[in-house]
Amino acid sequence: MRRWPCGGCRRLRVVGRVAEAALLCSPPVDPRLRAERERFIEAARKADDDAALYALKVEFLGKKGSLSKLRSVMRDLSPAERKAFGRDFNTVKDEIEALIDARRKELAKRRRAEELARWEDVSVVLDPVPRGALHIVTQTWRRLERVFENMGFTVHDGPHVEHGKTNFDDLNIPPDHPARDMQDTFFVVPPTDDGWERVLRTHTSPVQIRTMLAGPPPVRVVALGQVYRRDDDATHTPMFHQIEGLYVDRDVSMADLKATLYHFVSAVFETDLDVRFRPSFFPFVEPGAEFDVRCPFCKGDGCSVCKRTGWIELGGSGMVHPAVFEAVGYDPEEVSGWAFGFGIDRMAMLLHGVSDLRLLFDGDQRFLEQFPC
Ligand SMILES: [Zn+2]
Repeated sequence: MRRWPCGGCRRLRVVGRVAEAALLCSPPVDPRLRAERERFIEAARKADDDAALYALKVEFLGKKGSLSKLRSVMRDLSPAERKAFGRDFNTVKDEIEALIDARRKELAKRRRAEELARWEDVSVVLDPVPRGALHIVTQTWRRLERVFENMGFTVHDGPHVEHGKTNFDDLNIPPDHPARDMQDTFFVVPPTDDGWERVLRTHTSPVQIRTMLAGPPPVRVVALGQVYRRDDDATHTPMFHQIEGLYVDRDVSMADLKATLYHFVSAVFETDLDVRFRPSFFPFVEPGAEFDVRCPFCKGDGCSVCKRTGWIELGGSGMVHPAVFEAVGYDPEEVSGWAFGFGIDRMAMLLHGVSDLRLLFDGDQRFLEQFPC
């Protein structure tokens, strides 16, 4: 039993069914109306589907319905009695309509509950919803971005399908350079309208060119992104991720480069790590150097990751070649700058102790789930 406010006087009273809250707490005075009302309430309690409710509505409120027929008694009443009877008649009629409506809703609710009960067992403990995570390369990518942004660099990107001039010539990579060989480069056909080859960028360095063409020095940018080469083995994939840094201003030196790389590796590996240069050649820098970082795993004592050398090769770097400055309209007598680049995938492997590059690209969930972010 439940207590429910009367729709008329709002007083709380006990009702047999929730639907009966539609009934007022004061029944009509006229015994015939009262009897019809009681008969209807009893019948409505037994009506268990919409069809039965509809039949009840016809039986009581239809043109020839029992309640409608009572209307005829009004003829024999005095005006005052007729007024009272009419008011009660309308009230009972409203109550019956409201009760039918409420019962219909009650039945629909019950049907829905029964339906749910068939499909749903609330006692079943479901597996927790599996939570996704960023790919290990994306995690590393964002970590690198954060470190360089904190050092005052801005992040730039360029198109993946690159103009041959921007990808090679402007970077002082002459037409006979091995990097332009069919073995290394994915060429895209057709070539550009002005006859230049169109390639999938083989490095992020074209972003340097685009950035310098876009405005005067000083320039302090990093570019992260996918690059493409025709390579596929345990340590190479045809698509891989590179990060490139470029700093151009007056009086920029190798010392700035070394300090920047030192701060960068220490921030990424969260410990102070030495950086060293080894002379090397890259067409777009002069002098050029490969840079190594002190092995973060053994701190230089020698371990399997650093192949007992105490150092890990990370990438290439150097002072921007005057020919590159000339290609973008910068005066090499006025400004100097450095650039560096290395693989984000290799950095991800180092940070997480992954030994095979291909694991990063296989999409094997058993592997990926080990690196929640
Ligand atoms: Zn080591």
